[in-house]
This record gives sequence, structure tokens and C-alpha cells, in this order.
Amino acid sequence: MSTEFVRQLNPHPATDEVREAVLQNPGFGKFFTDHMVCIDWQGDVQQGTGRWDNARLQPYGPLSLDPSTSVLHYGQEIFEGLKAYRHEDGSVWTFRPEANAARLNRSAQRLALPALPEETFVDAIRELVSQDRKWVPSGDGESLYLRPFMIGTEPFLGVRPSKEALFSVIASPAGNYFGTVEPVDIWLSGTYARAGRGGTGAAKCGGNYAASLIAQMEGDAHGCSQVLFLDEQRGGAVEELGGMNVFFVFDDGRLVTPELTGTILEGITRDSVIQIARDRGLQVEERAFTLDEWREGKSSGHLTEVFACGTAAVIAPVRRLLSHDEVIGSEDEKPGEVSMAIRQQLLDVQTGRAEDTHGWLTRLV
Ligand SMILES: *Cc1c(COP(=O)(O)O)cnc(C)c1O
Repeated sequence: MSTEFVRQLNPHPATDEVREAVLQNPGFGKFFTDHMVCIDWQGDVQQGTGRWDNARLQPYGPLSLDPSTSVLHYGQEIFEGLKAYRHEDGSVWTFRPEANAARLNRSAQRLALPALPEETFVDAIRELVSQDRKWVPSGDGESLYLRPFMIGTEPFLGVRPSKEALFSVIASPAGNYFGTVEPVDIWLSGTYARAGRGGTGAAKCGGNYAASLIAQMEGDAHGCSQVLFLDEQRGGAVEELGGMNVFFVFDDGRLVTPELTGTILEGITRDSVIQIARDRGLQVEERAFTLDEWREGKSSGHLTEVFACGTAAVIAPVRRLLSHDEVIGSEDEKPGEVSMAIRQQLLDVQTGRAEDTHGWLTRLV
């Protein structure tokens, strides 16, 4: 049974003119569509009781929260990120939403927030995208970025899981990532970690991002757009970037990516890249990958490509790894053949130009 949403339409939606102007140059995460979806929860996660209700579509706008609301003090917050793509015939599709729904629930469990039925997650996305379908761009490589999130909303300063929660979905048009695939330099944080054993590294929660911002600032100061974190408990094995997973391509047809250890976020792009690589006959290894191997691979020439991946940027080739002590990789690194082929395959499936052999697409509108 699909979720029933009460619809309160925005009395002042963006005019066609304003929306078109935004869609001309949306950037990322700056502009939002006319509506949002909200669903409330009340219950007790410790008891395993509770219910979601009051599912509604409402005008996009500020949330009103009591200053004592739990999320503002103890950070019970999780989120997801996925995209809606317009196909050539005008239909709108999304990519592996059930995987996002399942991951939201794994994050919820870690952060002592309630589980949301997977169908409700997909229904909420469909409700918002149907209403705001005009906001789904049709240009090459453009999409509507969807941001589902959940917060603890109980007004209470005691330290225990919130007995109230809000699940919401907002949407923001996202610009073209096709044209400029410039390899990026990444910064190796020697000082800070984003996750630790038993921590929240595998959960998609705002707290992980808050913890990584200081390292990000350090990276920015050295001209790097992303930060690489290491797993100190595993001999300094490569973990991931602040918000992207990482892959290494060798000249003998091997693709290596750090295995999921509990401190790494299980990216849906990561999983899809692994599948596409196997389809293409590459040998994928999920295992510990050390800086030594990176260094040696680069100096011997056997490590031919490094790339990062995630929903927002899809695949970003990595040029160099910079740290206080050394630089690995060279300045004139070009986007690699394997990285770009996988990227193209992924984009072609998402936008309906290649056959969806794994059943990854769900039609929204
Ligand atoms: C969201 C995220 C990723 C990428 O996940 P996708 O599902 O591919 O978008 C990777 N690392 C972190 C820390 C993330 O938050």
C-alpha cells in the first residue's frame, strides 16, 4: 500500500521565468524546489515501538523547532543523497533508491533513530518529484539532487534517544558534471580522523561531516578540494575521502578499493562501480590499500589511475595526493581511460542511454 500524502501546495511557486533562470546555472545545493515532504514519528526506539504519520507535501520553507529540540544538542541527524534524471522521452527516473532507503535505516539504527519503511522512502521521493517535476533539468549531465534526512525532534535536554523524529525530503537542481572532468588534488590529513573503530563512520550522519570540516579547511589551504583519511588501526590503510569512496586502477586490469571495515561509508556509487568494472572484465579487489602501495604503484607506473566516487560528482579523477611530507602523483595527470569509461557507463544507465541490465532504475514520473 502506498503512503497517502496530504498536499498543501505552495501558493507562491517560482514563476517559469525564475525557475528557468535557476536551471540555467543551478550549481550545487543552492536553490530548492517549491515543495518538501515531511513525515512525523513518535515512539520509543529502545522499546521498538512507534509510528510514522502525518505524511505531507508542503511548501518548501523553514522548520520551526523548539530551542531544546534534541537534534540541536546531541546531533541525532542522518541523511541520504540521490538524484532524479530526466530521460529523453521526458520521463523521470532515479537510481537504486531502495539502496538509499536501506542505508538510511542502517544509519538510523546506529544513531538511535527510528527505521522508515523502504516503500515510504521511495513514495516520499516520488511525491516530491511528481509535484516539482518541472524542476528536473533536461540538459546533458544535469539532475535533480534529492536530499532525504531525519532528525530527532523531541524538545528535551535529557541524554537518551529522541521520542520524536522528522523525516523530510528536499530537492535541489544540480548542474552539469559532464563537460569538465578536471583531476583533483587531495589532501592527506595527518592530524584528523573522520571515523574510528566502533564509531559512526559507516553511518551517513551530519556529525561525520562536522568532524571532517577542520581537515577540509587544512586541505583547502593547500589547494586541495577533498581530504583523504587513513585508518590508523589498520596500519594507515587508505579509508576514504570526506564524502567519496576511492578506487585504484592497475595496468594489469585490477581495480582495488578499500574493503568495508565499519569505518567506511558504503557508497552506492562504489557498489555500482564495482559491478560495472566486473561487467567490463576487470578484477575487483576489496582489501586494505596502503600508502606504500600507492607510492610504489606510482613510481613503477603500474598504478595507472586513481579516482573518487559518489552521487554528487559521480567519478572524480585524482591527480595528486599531497601531505606535509610528500606528494604522490604528478601534476600533469589526465583523467584515466578506465575511470572515464566506468563514469560514462554509469551516466548512460542513469540517463537512459544504456540498457539497465541490473535493474537499477526506478521510474518516478
Ligand atoms: C555519501 C557518501 C559517500 C558516497 O556515497 P554514494 O552513495 O555513492 O553517494 C562516500 N563517503 C561518504 C563519507 C559519504 O557520506
